Amino acid sequence: MSFCALGLCTELVNTVAEKGYITPSPIQQEAIPAILSKQDLIAIAQTGTGKTASFSLPILQLLADMPRPEPNCIRALIIAPTRELAAQVAQNVEQYSQNLKVRSTAVFGGVRIEPQKYALAQGVDILIATPGRLVDLYEQGAINFDLLEILVLDEADRMLDLGFVDHIHHIQKLLPEKRQTLLFSATFSKEIKTLANTMLSNPMTIELAKANDHIEKITQVLHPVDKERKNELLIHLIENNDWSQILVFTRTKRGADGLRNELEAKGIVAESIHANRTQQARTLALNGFRSGTIKVLIGTDLAARGIDIQQLPCVINI
Ligand code: AMP
Repeated sequence: MSFCALGLCTELVNTVAEKGYITPSPIQQEAIPAILSKQDLIAIAQTGTGKTASFSLPILQLLADMPRPEPNCIRALIIAPTRELAAQVAQNVEQYSQNLKVRSTAVFGGVRIEPQKYALAQGVDILIATPGRLVDLYEQGAINFDLLEILVLDEADRMLDLGFVDHIHHIQKLLPEKRQTLLFSATFSKEIKTLANTMLSNPMTIELAKANDHIEKITQVLHPVDKERKNELLIHLIENNDWSQILVFTRTKRGADGLRNELEAKGIVAESIHANRTQQARTLALNGFRSGTIKVLIGTDLAARGIDIQQLPCVINI
């Protein structure tokens, strides 16, 4: 199976080849032809399955040959639950569109709204947004949905977990009824089925085997330890193992900051990422971790979903 056989145009086939993708992943094999045929789609797939490309590539193709959108109009809207995820999807879309004349931009909270309004005023083909900032921009007259053709809900179950259901329904009412809607979710709960019933029409459903089927490739170790000595043990493990990057999950934001301070005191470069940190700090932390200047990234469940870090060697739940 090749990307070409899925019906993708030469520009996109070349782009994925440049990215080093050799064969389409299972979700890509199923979703790309379905999306190109303009069907609504429910895809139950987790991060790491190649799901971002599975919707970005066909959307780019569907929008590629159309004239540039009018100011403030958008033609495809991708809604993601967190700022980090919106930024990551936007980065992917931008890379995949390198050989095409399609304009994309990301909007999310925690950063100035004016540059986002300016970008929208130029006309944007694909907008990647978090729900709150999207509603703000609409209410300030910066977005017009009249020409919208495609809506994607990415990590829809996470969106519901984070309490965005009202935002989603509010946004839905603003969109043209005739559109293509794609819903991606890691789980297929009753709530997701209800959401899908209200937002999609006649959808095709793709349910992939869990990405966790790869779990045999992961070695899991449990260290029983008293609660008050957890950080001490963690520092011992970091100092005595050859881990290049370590992602640590804590239960609370305070726990994340406390651990960061203890690690820093030991000379271990660490950063925390959670909802109380500014967006600039969150972005710097994630970029530093990706590039290797930050050895330990400590997050709450904000960082637990969707973030793609190549070859991450070690994850610790504390
Ligand atoms: P995602 O599930 O969208 O978060 O993607 C996970 C990772 O897989 C990303 O780093 C993509 O660049 C990569 N990827 C996506 N599709 C393919 C493919 N067909 N072959 C190899 N890598 C891929």
